[in-house]
Amino acid sequence: MNLLKQAIIEKGKALSDEVLKVDAFLNHQIDPVLMEQIGKEFAERFQREGITKILTIESSGIAPAVMAGLQLHVPVVFARKRKSLTLVDNLLIAKVHSFTKGETNEISVSKDYLLDEDVVLVLDDFLANGQAALGLVDIVKQAGSTLAGVGSVIEKGFQPGGDMLREQGIRVESLAIIDSLANKQISFREE
Ligand code: 5GP
Repeated sequence: MNLLKQAIIEKGKALSDEVLKVDAFLNHQIDPVLMEQIGKEFAERFQREGITKILTIESSGIAPAVMAGLQLHVPVVFARKRKSLTLVDNLLIAKVHSFTKGETNEISVSKDYLLDEDVVLVLDDFLANGQAALGLVDIVKQAGSTLAGVGSVIEKGFQPGGDMLREQGIRVESLAIIDSLANKQISFREE
């Protein structure tokens, strides 16, 4: 997606060989015009899948997921990373390991919002080692819903998450795939 790649080049910053900072439009400040285009792109790619719900994870997945939900006219559910006062029972829970933080956390979603008849698109901002996506896929399975696929705004193709999901037969759509951040230079995979 050219508009996204342009934003990554102009506003993104490789903090190291592994980490990309995109606080200017996705992870802190949000560019709604770009998010709208991202939502349209996801909707177009998954329009024939009969999606009834989008599942993402707080907080940076919410903006692109809401824009995709707006286009597909389906509700968006976000998994919570922290304990909530109101979300206490009837929960679907999965463990998500963060290699960067070196810790494992539980994410949770209410059973009220994911039903066995749902066809679910899992969306997130980044796809790196794939642990967040795997946790969301696990929750879709626990709910008995059908998984339509996984969408990521930015996939770091040099990390194993995307290929690991594809090898499991999951459809993965990434709007920009970064092949390398070596020497703090951002390079994209040719499509
Ligand atoms: P994974 O579980 O695929 O390893 O990582 C997914 C999560 O880690 C994303 O939801 C994102 O919040 C965060 N993440 C991983 N790599 C990066 C990165 O290079 N930049 C930013 N901003 N977030 C990242």
